Amino acid sequence: MSDRSRYDLIVAGVARPAADGAMVAVREPATGQVLAEVARAGAPDVDDALGAAAAAFDAGVWADEPATARGRVLARVAGLLREHAEDLARLEARNAGKPIGDARWEVGAAADTFEYYAGAADKFFGEVVPVADPGLDVVLREPVGPCALIVPWNFPLLIASWKVAPALVCGNPVVLKPASLTPLTALRLGELLVDAGVPAPCVSVLPGPGSVVGDALVADPRVAKVSFTGETATGAAILQTAAPNITRVSLELGGKSACVVFADADWRRAAAETPLAVFGNAGQDCCARSRILVERPVHDAFVEAFTARTRALRVDDPLDERTEVGPLISDAQRRVSLDYLELGAQEGARLVCGGRVPERAGSFLEPAVLVDVDNRMRVAQEEIFGPVACVIPFDGEEEAVRLANDVPYGLSGSIWTSDLGRAIRVSRAIRTGVLSVNSNRSVRTETPFGGFKRSGLGRELGMHALAHYTEVKNVFFCSGSRPAR
Ligand code: NDP
Repeated sequence: MSDRSRYDLIVAGVARPAADGAMVAVREPATGQVLAEVARAGAPDVDDALGAAAAAFDAGVWADEPATARGRVLARVAGLLREHAEDLARLEARNAGKPIGDARWEVGAAADTFEYYAGAADKFFGEVVPVADPGLDVVLREPVGPCALIVPWNFPLLIASWKVAPALVCGNPVVLKPASLTPLTALRLGELLVDAGVPAPCVSVLPGPGSVVGDALVADPRVAKVSFTGETATGAAILQTAAPNITRVSLELGGKSACVVFADADWRRAAAETPLAVFGNAGQDCCARSRILVERPVHDAFVEAFTARTRALRVDDPLDERTEVGPLISDAQRRVSLDYLELGAQEGARLVCGGRVPERAGSFLEPAVLVDVDNRMRVAQEEIFGPVACVIPFDGEEEAVRLANDVPYGLSGSIWTSDLGRAIRVSRAIRTGVLSVNSNRSVRTETPFGGFKRSGLGRELGMHALAHYTEVKNVFFCSGSRPAR
């Protein structure tokens, strides 16, 4: 399966070339070699996909299926993802350059997501409101309509699943726009959706340039809902494009999350666990703890332990079972990190390890640790989206909170402390959508995920996501008079 070298679009459930026949080469970041030729969608393909989706929605195809039936189809998708897990993981590892162990975890998490929403199908419903007027007031949750789901290249299958599963389970047709660099597992997902029994007109997967396919989807009045993950600047542009049609939009955007390590914490464990919370996925993770705030009494010892673990990270071929960090997605993305390392040096930060380009093919970069960082420096304020960690000392709880909050983002973060009262105070004071105490894990299928400030709008995962894929309708049934007893 992973050896397939040509991929068509999926338009209304059917694999076909782009209307204009365009194809693009998709590369393998670890080698720079072409991995596959992929059809490149354009405006006519968007029109076909949305025409089918809107017609299906208007006819009640899928939306009028009982919720339990939709849930059963999603459960089959989860089963198919598990059945094809190894092929999908290898495909993702090669296309996105991620270590095979991480790719396996992601395919499993994508299956978990479909399973979770399969189970949620008949557990998300409206309410009956006790109103003063005689009668019955019912609040219904109705599907919103065709959904345009636009995803980035860092977790291609997983983030697609976070959008596709809740959108479908609520009864909506989906048009998925994968990132141009990583369309392969999204196209496989599209095939599996149809195989599992999602009606063909309700499934399209359109790889193609964001400025063409993404923009056409967002601007089209047939799209009822846009769910986007990607850069903050792209999210802002999407809001503007969606504005004339008042299209519903949710956004998962960038981050510059803080890992706050207090002197009272088990800081040795924090130092051992945090490198992969910054350098995992080669730092291309919106939840990366790219600012590590360390209380001064343990700062130097923490840096020593953290740096030792970082140096020991195995940066290698994604298909090697022992690899912990793969290449960046492209040479251009690596260039961004290298430019930030230069900028950091100009700003006065000191590189204590990494930052070297290994002598091998592929977009590899050794994980870099910057110390003597001031939170006002650009390396501390801007999302680098590469393997660069900034370590910043602080004195006391108040300064920790001030520094953690002093960035335009608010997506994720960690607090390491053994003081429960402090954990409660600081977690309430940090303005971010997701926090972990004495852990660096941000994402759980069952819990809401999303950001404050410029990190986004709305939430994915958990039952919270479902609200974004439904409209609330209130119906009052007048009984004419109060019921007789
Ligand atoms: P981009 O914003 O460049 O792209 C994301 C997706 O949007 C791609 O499919 C892209 O297509 C598409 N796109 C680009 N321009 C437009 C447009 N004008 N209209 C509609 N769609 C468009 O982000 P990256 O792919 O570079 O992803 C990295 C960014 O994503 C990082 O900043 C990161 O923080 C953020 N991110 C946030 C997450 C979160 O949950 N908060 C999770 C993961 C990443 P194409 O590929 O063709 O350019």
